[in-house]
Amino acid sequence: MELRERRKEIVKNTFVSVGYECDICGVTTDIVSLPDTWHELTHSHNGWGNDSCDSVETFHLCSPKCYIEQVKSSVKEVGNHQGAEIGEFTGEFIIELLKFFK
Ligand SMILES: [Zn+2]
Repeated sequence: MELRERRKEIVKNTFVSVGYECDICGVTTDIVSLPDTWHELTHSHNGWGNDSCDSVETFHLCSPKCYIEQVKSSVKEVGNHQGAEIGEFTGEFIIELLKFFK
């Protein structure tokens, strides 16, 4: 007796990167790698418990103007927490740095 295999077609969806969207102004690019004129910024702090893990966020920014806007937003969000880091800087340093952009 020969067993007959039953088959069903299954379609799987996957997501692939097709570009970036600026987290401040929403402009998009259809280049797969981050354009040289854009910048990626990550902020975080090392406060208590899961808050520190939840604080890690990465942003993609299309221009110096959007970069500064994101830095200001990051200062409000994590700047006063213990161990704050915004980009490559400590929270204390970036707060002082922003005083030059007023
Ligand atoms: Zn932008």
